[in-house]
Amino acid sequence: MSICDDTLLCNFPKCRAKLSAFAWVTACSHVFCDQHGSEKFSCSPVICPACSSALSGKLDIVRMELSPSEEYKAMVLTGLRPDIVLDISSRALAFWSYQVNYFHF
Ligand SMILES: [Zn+2]
Ligand SMILES: [Zn+2]
Repeated sequence: MSICDDTLLCNFPKCRAKLSAFAWVTACSHVFCDQHGSEKFSCSPVICPACSSALSGKLDIVRMELSPSEEYKAMVLTGLRPDIVLDISSRALAFWSYQVNYFHF
């Protein structure tokens, strides 16, 4: 599998659903389908179902829209310094490559 694979798979044990509209992304670099995300992250304490990390911070879990609108793309990084834009991009790419290397088999 290559970095160009265009779908993430739910990291919940045995689920492996292809993620399309939304994905729940965690600070520990895991990702879950809408069903498992809303089920597992609605009760506290919140524990990552893939690695058991405690996810207590405000940004430890983010529900991402996977096909953002043109309006969103036009604005989301606008106004940030180029080094910050690249920093954010490289972290997102590292997450993607970790996912396709370790969860696609
Ligand atoms: Zn799932
Ligand atoms: Zn995790």
